Amino acid sequence: MHEMSLMGDILQLVQEDALEKRINNISKVELIVGEISNAMPDALRMAFDIFRDQNLHLFHKEAELIIHLEEAKAECVICGVQYQPTQKIALCPNCQIPSGKILTGETFQVLSYEGSHE
Ligand SMILES: [Zn+2]
Repeated sequence: MHEMSLMGDILQLVQEDALEKRINNISKVELIVGEISNAMPDALRMAFDIFRDQNLHLFHKEAELIIHLEEAKAECVICGVQYQPTQKIALCPNCQIPSGKILTGETFQVLSYEGSHE
């Protein structure tokens, strides 16, 4: 489950930032996850719970993960039509070739997190 390593990387960033700002007892982490970022929200939530339970010096025991899904959008570089791709190789519905340029939907990043100051 590669969501474990994705979540590990994300929480590493959160942890470094929290240390710098002297924040602990993190109660909420919000992520932006693109529809075609290859990260499954359910698997991310599961991974978050595991990391949280292993890092209770950093997280509140009921800390929650909030996922904001980013809709996927692509634009064909040939005919210019905009459409919703279902995968990274975006097949233009007009031209029937993979001429789509992904505009949104690949994001995977931390939007914000909340905790309390030491
Ligand atoms: Zn096209």
